[in-house]
Amino acid sequence: MPSKIPGMDYALNPYTGCSHGCSYCYASFMNRFTGRRESWGSYVDVKVNAADRLRAQLRRPRQGTVLISSVTDPYQPIEAQFGITRSCLLLLTCANLHVSILTKSDLVCRDIHILKDLPSLEVGLTITTPSDALSRLLEEGAPPTSVRLGALAALAAAGLEPWVFVAPLGPYTYPSEAEALFKMIVDAGASSILVDGFNFYPAAVGRVAERLRGDRRGKRFAWALANRDAYRRELTDLVAAQRLPIAISLC
Ligand code: SF4
Repeated sequence: MPSKIPGMDYALNPYTGCSHGCSYCYASFMNRFTGRRESWGSYVDVKVNAADRLRAQLRRPRQGTVLISSVTDPYQPIEAQFGITRSCLLLLTCANLHVSILTKSDLVCRDIHILKDLPSLEVGLTITTPSDALSRLLEEGAPPTSVRLGALAALAAAGLEPWVFVAPLGPYTYPSEAEALFKMIVDAGASSILVDGFNFYPAAVGRVAERLRGDRRGKRFAWALANRDAYRRELTDLVAAQRLPIAISLC
């Protein structure tokens, strides 16, 4: 379907809901549209007809960029069973579209041979912390950082020039940790890094604060909550200070 996201002409979401269940996720607003009453992160609906609908839409010539996905992760664990994302990608190998994929899952590596057949592709991994422990705490349903770095290296080795979205680089991450993360990403073979700050969406704030309760990171998070401009300045200065062999920028 047509997308309102800047730079994206179409958005393709093979799933609704997301079992990665990131505490900071602001896509939880989707509950309003899905009619599901369960908490965000606890359900995934499979669009079993997604490939059929895409096939029908591709009967007319299309141009531009299609984002997979915009309000969920296209590589849900259940994708290993259903293969909806893979079916859509196979169709897109015959389309004249630029495909943009963003995921937190190493399952993307299953499709490397298909990704290499796409006429035009950018593939990115979202990695938010150098710490597997923090990743497991805040992104409990997603593969931890070390697994994502392994996927990044595999995509790079396949010549797909993956980029990394460090989003959010939350205020619970210390600057020294952020710099360690940037180095890990460079070492794994990323082509560029894009950093985004924490979105203080009220539901996300509540979930993250709950997860960090009693943790020293919780104090930093509370500081940022009360000093959002200072947090943003810190983030801007941190990114500007990097001297990396690849491009790094801030949203
Ligand atoms: S992977 Fe993305 S869509 Fe899924 S819960 Fe995490 S932030 Fe939200």
